[in-house]
Amino acid sequence: MIYPKVYLKSGKEQSLQRFHPWIFSGAIKRIDGEPAEGDVVEVVSAKGDFLALGHFQPGSITVRVISFDNLEINREFWLTKLRNALNLRKSLGLFPNPTTNIFRLVHGEGDGLPGLIVDIYGSTAVMQAHSSGMALMRSTLAELIIEAMGGAVTSVYDKSSGTLSPKSPSEAVDGYLVGEAKSDELFENGNRFLVSWEEGQKTGFFVDQRDNRALVGQYSKDAKVLNAFCYTGGFSVYAARGGASSVVSVDSSQKAMDLTTQNMLANFGQNPSHVSVCADVFDFLRDNDEVYDVIILDPPAFAKHRGALNNALQAYKRLNAAAFRKLKPGGILFTFSCSQVVTRENFRNAVFSGSIIANRNVRIMHQLTQPADHPINIYHPEGEYLKGLVLYAE
Ligand code: SAH
Repeated sequence: MIYPKVYLKSGKEQSLQRFHPWIFSGAIKRIDGEPAEGDVVEVVSAKGDFLALGHFQPGSITVRVISFDNLEINREFWLTKLRNALNLRKSLGLFPNPTTNIFRLVHGEGDGLPGLIVDIYGSTAVMQAHSSGMALMRSTLAELIIEAMGGAVTSVYDKSSGTLSPKSPSEAVDGYLVGEAKSDELFENGNRFLVSWEEGQKTGFFVDQRDNRALVGQYSKDAKVLNAFCYTGGFSVYAARGGASSVVSVDSSQKAMDLTTQNMLANFGQNPSHVSVCADVFDFLRDNDEVYDVIILDPPAFAKHRGALNNALQAYKRLNAAAFRKLKPGGILFTFSCSQVVTRENFRNAVFSGSIIANRNVRIMHQLTQPADHPINIYHPEGEYLKGLVLYAE
């Protein structure tokens, strides 16, 4: 197959030789042919030597590499990629698994599939395309996901309307590409969750906190727990399962609070030791005098781009200072940042500043990250986005 050729400027092939999967517009010298947005292109050096194949998308990242080998890009190519992704989840024991049927099957660059996210919820796969290249082939991908999953998945829902650029040539309408809505019972480590991919944030659930939720469970025995920015109440369910004496869940979205209440009910029935509070977390921490044994802070990304970094770090500092003030002596803070532009170092410094402001003596017990079904491509360190600290405050 002959693809349009993207010639790089001399010297700009180096990052590709290190297998970095993105080509920025500034690295491109010229383009032979007229690729449309989403087309496969061949990337070549200034001298014309083959470097990679990728999806073309005018913009800052102009090409997202799908292969560093000169292969035929056909169904077999994509099926092999999906099978490789599934093999990793099989080796993690996530599929098949008697107590967990929620996991991430494809994590973009981390699985060599830039621009594609696929989360599995029982027999439904929820797909999100972040590039036009992936969006344009959604029907094929849906068929191949079903084939790769060997019948365990029978419906594929596309939820790309919020992740594609409004200028994308692919029509961004959310809906079932294959199959229909199911009523599977969904579990994570034996905990039941109601997930609505049609209405919820992201693909419906924050699959990336599975391991960290389990750790919260381990520290919750007889503890008074505050779960701030709770969304579906994932951490609250694990805290209650771990034996918490009481759990308070806070989120500014009423829908999130309703989901949390439902998830607590689905797991524990009428549970008098859980309280749902619809409030801004900053206000809640300022206006309440209660103190806790365990506090979880899992806010949305405060910095969505580099320009917002300084303000974001200030916000992390203020938030963590406020939480430290609400921890009992010997209390434990689970604090997270999912902003990709905030480095581990940045985040640690912001939390450190927060502990100084609150005048607490703090020790780091655990340093957390995303779970293994959100793998990081070693050549694409940008893929490491979730950072967490577990801190013991004297
Ligand atoms: N911890 C959750 C995911 C959190 S997502 C989980 O394990 O699934 C971030 C949540 O923060 C969203 O539900 C959003 O509604 C909420 N949120 C954003 N800003 C907020 C604020 N200032 N106060 C309270 N909640 C907020």
